[in-house]
Amino acid sequence: MSKDKQLSVDRSGLRSRAEKRVIPVDKQSIAEMSTDDIAALLHELETHQIELEMQNEELLSTQNVLVEMRDQYTELYDFAPVGYVTVSAQGLIIQSNLTFAEMLGLPRSHLFNQRLSQFVIEEDQDNYYHYLRKLTGTHQAQSCELRLRNQSDDPFWARLDSICVESSDSECLKIRCVLTDITDRKLRDEQIRTLSQAVEQSPVSVIVTDPDGVIEYVNSTFEVTTGYQSSEVKGKKSKFLESANLSKEVYLELWQTISNGMSWQGEYQKQKKNGGIFWEYANISPVLDESGRVCHLVSINEDITLRKQQEEHILHQANFDALTGLSNRFLALDRLSQLVSEAKRNKECVAVLFLDLDDFKKINDTMGHEAGDKLLIEASTRLRSVVRASDTVGRLGGDEFIVLLSGITDGTDAIPVAENILARFRDTFSIDGRELVLTTSIGIAAYPVDGNSASELLRNADSAMYFSKEHGRNTYSFFTDAMNKEVSRRLLLEEQLHGALERDEFRICYQPVVNIESHLIIGFEALLRWHNPALGEVSPMEFIPIAEHTGHILPIGQYVLTRSLNRLVDWQQKYNPSFTMAINLSPRQFRDPNLVTFIKQAMHQAGITSESLEMEITEGVLMSGHAYIDDALIALSELGVGIVMDDFGTGYSSLSYLRSYPFDSLKIDRTFVNDITADMADRKLVIAAIAMAHSLGLTVVAEGVETEEQLALLASQGCEFAQGYFFSKPLFSEEIAEILKSGGGGRLP
Ligand code: C2E
Ligand code: MG
Ligand code: MG
Repeated sequence: MSKDKQLSVDRSGLRSRAEKRVIPVDKQSIAEMSTDDIAALLHELETHQIELEMQNEELLSTQNVLVEMRDQYTELYDFAPVGYVTVSAQGLIIQSNLTFAEMLGLPRSHLFNQRLSQFVIEEDQDNYYHYLRKLTGTHQAQSCELRLRNQSDDPFWARLDSICVESSDSECLKIRCVLTDITDRKLRDEQIRTLSQAVEQSPVSVIVTDPDGVIEYVNSTFEVTTGYQSSEVKGKKSKFLESANLSKEVYLELWQTISNGMSWQGEYQKQKKNGGIFWEYANISPVLDESGRVCHLVSINEDITLRKQQEEHILHQANFDALTGLSNRFLALDRLSQLVSEAKRNKECVAVLFLDLDDFKKINDTMGHEAGDKLLIEASTRLRSVVRASDTVGRLGGDEFIVLLSGITDGTDAIPVAENILARFRDTFSIDGRELVLTTSIGIAAYPVDGNSASELLRNADSAMYFSKEHGRNTYSFFTDAMNKEVSRRLLLEEQLHGALERDEFRICYQPVVNIESHLIIGFEALLRWHNPALGEVSPMEFIPIAEHTGHILPIGQYVLTRSLNRLVDWQQKYNPSFTMAINLSPRQFRDPNLVTFIKQAMHQAGITSESLEMEITEGVLMSGHAYIDDALIALSELGVGIVMDDFGTGYSSLSYLRSYPFDSLKIDRTFVNDITADMADRKLVIAAIAMAHSLGLTVVAEGVETEEQLALLASQGCEFAQGYFFSKPLFSEEIAEILKSGGGGRLP
């Protein structure tokens, strides 16, 4: 039973006893009373006394209960977890509990008659007064949040819940306030606000779902990226895990990871509201509740579409040729390796067609790189049109292409493809309004007969292509072992040529050029010799074309020129000032823009006049038709340097070349001279050449004269000069010096 109830029962008991108590007695009446009456009265008085004593006891115990209750109330009041304060209508503190005093860090006694407002911080004063006005104005309980300052001047947040205690005419007599310290909550709120703002304004999209993936929150980046409004997706099952390119295995792994309370990271594609696809890098983490159960999933997603596009672009660049869009060398060889592995498994054959466009360089040089590019694009289109969709066409670089044929039974299956390619190239290419003829040379190597690996097949197809080039171009050749030897030799030569000049492996021979009538030496032809420790003596016929190809011919040519001019000047000074020196020039040397300047400087440095120098060129040089060749020849001729057409008869032996270039003399190739006494046709050609040269005002040198008969025949046709074993083989300078020293003014037998 509650104390309140006990009290009320006891009170009622008191009242009933008091009602029975009234016996009217005075002094006079006592005197008149009988002893019995007095006895009765005494008895009643005794009874009454006992009753009073009992009442007294009850009162005492009630008082004790009340004291106890007061103490309890006071304790509750003073030590409540909130501050209680009563403020007069004037704003002065009338009463407060200990908690409030503690909040302010002051003894309670110091609070009385203080203004509550003095504890409110400056910035919140307005709020406080506004709050008071509202409280007194509305006659209703009000609450507000304010910052108060304690004794140590530290502000703290408090929530005020107040009511007015009003008089009967609604006048506010005093205000009772409950103050709760909400500093911790405020701090948490602030932290949450900061975090929410960070999430909301984050540049990555954030999705929060329940453990089943039902969306509870998305930030604004999500809205921007996906095009979905928050309201459209909230409450819906998140599609963040449903991605077209996410395999079932990865999907399962993802769920397993997050169900185990761990984070999952990965990339996947997602769809926007408008259907557009974009890439995201996602980090999905479970949020665990206090009991360790997953209560939310947080997915943080970075839009990586741009990076993916860049990656794809780079990948494409790394694998495809930018100009033609064909697989590049890297991808084509990778594909070849794959095809070889497959063919090994399936016991099939793979054919590699190695293509090199014929004379592409010439077109590139004459018509410019843009035209060259167009030609390459058109050539690749034609190549693609010839093969099946499953076959690979790649550009290895420059004007080299590769075609890979798989699933064939043997190498001969490549023949129709090679023939089709050649046929497709037979149609002219129209580039920039011009019809151009462009042929291609093809080399074929097939797995397994011609090689076991991609690199071997490629190398061998390349050798076969080289063979096609050597054998007239515009054709195809199958690889044979002999080609391999040729190619290894070539590679070895290339390797050894590198640095040969620096290692001083070259020497120059001089072959005398003789006046047929007088047998007097009129000059020399400088002929290069190469002795390499690994290769031994290498013929210029073999190494000059390679040096041309590798570009080594430029420094080598300069070496020949300076050396032989120094030699010439020596012999001119010692033996005959009118000696000449003929120096062979390769086509590649004409591509050197410094050629003429270099020759000029070399003559100047050696101290010889231009009439002493002759430059020998072949028809091959002229055939390319480059303007820079014309310019160089004219410049040389204007300098006074003699221009000699070398190896006449082996090329087109075109009269027009002889007419249109500033030639001074013509050298008949030794193959014709060799046969003039035996072969009628050769004799006729030589005779015609001499006559033609003379008619154009050119002198004639016969090359490779070995016999007296040859010499006699040439003499009878009016050929002025000769060189050949009949007079002298090419000799080193010391040997030439011997001949010249021996007297006779350089007369040879
Ligand atoms: P070429 O300019 O036609 O030189 C003549 C070649 O005929 C030389 O061959 C020479 O040794 C050879 N020869 C001369 N008389 C006779 C003979 O009576 N019988 C035979 N069987 N051969 C004879 P070599 O020295 O082997 O040079 C071959 C080619 O190499 C030269 O042909 C020339 O085109 C090229 N060459 C040589 N030296 C140089 C050089 O310094 N620069 C360039 N660019 N080419 C060079
Ligand atoms: Mg020559
Ligand atoms: Mg020659």
